[in-house]
This record gives sequence, C-alpha cells and structure tokens, in this order.
Amino acid sequence: MHDLNEKCAVVGVFGVPSASKIAYFSLFAMQHRGQEASGISSSNGKKIFTIKDRGLVTRVFNEEKLEKLSGTMAVGHNRYSTAGEDSILDAQPVFARYDLGEMSIVHNGNLTNAKEVRDALIKSGAIFQSSMDTENLIHLISRSEKARLKDRIIDAVKKVTGAYCFIFLSRTKMFAVRDPHGFRPLSIGKLGKGWVVASETCAFDLVGAKFVRDVNPGEMLIFEEGKEPQSIQVFEPTPKKCIFEYVYFARPDSLLFGKSAYAARIEMGKALAREMPVDADMVIPVPDSGVPAALGYSKESGIPFELGIIRNHYVGRTFIEPAQEIRDLKVKMKLSPIKELIDGKKIVVIDDSIVRGTTSKQIVRIMRNAGAAEVHMRISSPPTSDPCYYGIDTPDKSHLISASKSVEEVRKFIGADSLAYLSIDALLKSCGGEEESYCRACFDGKYVI
Ligand code: AMP
Repeated sequence: MHDLNEKCAVVGVFGVPSASKIAYFSLFAMQHRGQEASGISSSNGKKIFTIKDRGLVTRVFNEEKLEKLSGTMAVGHNRYSTAGEDSILDAQPVFARYDLGEMSIVHNGNLTNAKEVRDALIKSGAIFQSSMDTENLIHLISRSEKARLKDRIIDAVKKVTGAYCFIFLSRTKMFAVRDPHGFRPLSIGKLGKGWVVASETCAFDLVGAKFVRDVNPGEMLIFEEGKEPQSIQVFEPTPKKCIFEYVYFARPDSLLFGKSAYAARIEMGKALAREMPVDADMVIPVPDSGVPAALGYSKESGIPFELGIIRNHYVGRTFIEPAQEIRDLKVKMKLSPIKELIDGKKIVVIDDSIVRGTTSKQIVRIMRNAGAAEVHMRISSPPTSDPCYYGIDTPDKSHLISASKSVEEVRKFIGADSLAYLSIDALLKSCGGEEESYCRACFDGKYVI
C-alpha cells in the first residue's frame, strides 16, 4: 500500500566526531515530529552502518548501539505514525548498495507522484521492500545514467513532485535537498568544524550547533570533507511554506522559516482576541498545543490566564489512535481539569486547531463536568477543511469535521456556548513574511501541486 503521510523529522551531521550521537540527540529534540520509529545511518568513510527500529528514540538507541554507528557523518529520521502499515521496513533511513557503492536516505515530506513513479519502476523490473515514497529515490538514483552521485540525485529529484526534505549519505559525502516549494522546514547549523542539517532548529539548541540559515527551497547542499558546503540551486524557488508548522507542528522553541514559532503563536492568540472577543473570567489553554496562543489571547484581552487543564505527560498523542472509542478515552486520560478554579466561571478555552472535533468535544465536556458556567472555544487557526498532501498527517476529508459542517454545526457538536476561529488573513499576518509564500491548503483547499 502506498503511504500517504510521510511527515517526520530528519537530521544530517557532517564532519563531527561521534556524528551518530549528535544525530541521536537531534532526533531526541525532534521526537514530537514522529514517534513510531527512529533510525540512524553513519559512515566512517568506508562503510555505512544503519540501526533502525520501531519506538521512541530513547528506546531504539543505547550507548552500545551508538558506538557501532561509528564515523564523522550520519543521517537520522523519526517516523510519524500513520494508520495501516506497521512494519519495520517502513522505518528510515533507507539503505541500499548500488553501482556507485552504498547510500542511505532520509526523507521528510510526501511525494505527490509517488504512485506513478513507483508503478513505472515496477513495470520496468524494480522490486520494493516497503510502502515508503522514499524507496522510489533509491531506484531513480541507481538507474540514472550519470556518473556522479550528485548528478544522479539531481536527476532523481527532477522526476518527483511534492514535499520533500531529503538527506542522502554516501560513504564520503552528504547531500541535502529541499523541494522547490520548501513545504517542510530544513535548517543548517554549524557545529565546531562541522555541520548539522535538521528539520527544526530546536535540534541545534540541544547539540550546541549555531543556526546559520534555512536550506533554500529548491536548493541542494553538498558536504564534502575539507570543503565548505557547496550550494546548487537545482530548481527555481517558489516558496509555499507550510503554515500548519506554525499553527501546531513545530516546537515553540524552534525558528521556523527564520521566525520564532512561539512568537507567531502569541501573535495568533492576540489576533484571535481582537477578532473574536468574549466576556469571560479566565483564559485556559488546551495543553500543550494551545498554550502560546492562550497567552496571547490573555495579554490582548486582559482576561487572566490560568492553567485550568493539567496534562498527564505519560500518555502519547491522542491523535494517533485509529479507533474512535480509544481516542475519546485517551483524551480523558491525558487531560484533567482543576475543578476549584473552573467551578461557576465563564471560561475561554484556546486550542490551535480542530481536526475531527474529538479533542474539543471532550474538553467542553470536561469543563462542564468541572462546573464551568460558560465554555467558549477559540481556535488560533481557521477551520481545517481540507486534507494535506504535503506531509501533515490529516485524516481524509470525510473525517475533517469542518469539511462538512458549518461553524455553528461544529459548535453544536462540541457542545460549546460559542466557537470562533482565527481568520486566514490574521493567521498569515501572525506568521510574517510574504503571504503568497505560504501553503495553507488545509484551510482553503487551494493546492499548489
Ligand atoms: P481533533 O481532536 O481530531 O479535533 O484534533 C485536534 C487536536 O489535535 C488539537 O488539540 C491539535 O493540537 C491536535 N492536532 C492537530 N493536528 C494534528 C496532527 N497533524 N497530528 C497530531 N495532532 C494534531
């Protein structure tokens, strides 16, 4: 089966002693981008070593395993859970031996023509081990007529469309490529004499790397020993940065497309207070996703901010469970109210998004059970009306509550006294930069590809 949602974290480390350890800590910092599987390939210049498995970074690796991943260059990956496929074969890096030697690939994003490319490859005799888009690249590279890996990678990425940040490791070099739209983030950091390339800058902070810049949309970077990284603009950049990274996905301490994700979320909350004010006694965030926007809402409105919902951190993300019944229970397991605070009060609850409506419905119920006099739901993004084909894990349209229901119908479904969302204009302004440079197809259905 073809895997539609390959939304993950990638890291590449080059020219650094014990590169696999730096990759490990980077993946640990980016655990929120994927919890299903984790893997690292390293190279000692002669041979590529790979260890990958299902589970969290800290479960997949230990000191002994990282010792085995020797060398001064490494690539790593955290895989996000998607429904269906449950195989170790779907963990990354994807390693292969081919006529030029060995290579390992990690990929964050989702290729929109993956099926066509794969069908054509299969027809011409290729065999596949996994359901991952990423495996297409191995075949495209190994079949390219070009003599050098660099040119073969260029050949290969020219045959695929969609969202990708790829990092390729050969035995002696590392290559990072970002798609021409730059849907998913990818940043470069300097670490000692070497380099770190990662999906999010929070990885740099943990390993002590200094943020240098983002990889440009359409740019390929080549890392080679004893040389400065070489940059090739493979495609004309046509930026369509994912706005949902700002809304929800990235860690608040990351610089996203050059701007603080936290600052953007505070702005969203402030704008939400201006656009959708409400008379209330306190602002309460849905932890952790609604916290920065709730702070912004409180600052702008003057309504006190309270941590009225406490999160149990030992429960995984509720979103991941495929069965509806379990998801309901898991929200309760995860979030619980401070009754003494809420009882008899008018509450504004802030979350970043409503996808299926499960979380908001539960939150309203929790608040009512805790004695809230009124529950007003405010969402720091527009209604999520359309699925993402570029790497954010959204259910298909039939499960997106805003695809078929009006705001008033959603309000009724979740049982709130009022419900209001941030406008798309205010969201774009909160993120800064050129409005046209953002992909917001999840909110307006206007797909670039
Ligand atoms: P739902 O309960 O289906 O309406 O999902 C909304 C909740 O899930 C919100 O609290 C969001 O913070 C969170 N959320 C939104 N998008 C995603 C995603 N792609 N992966 C995981 N969680 C998400």
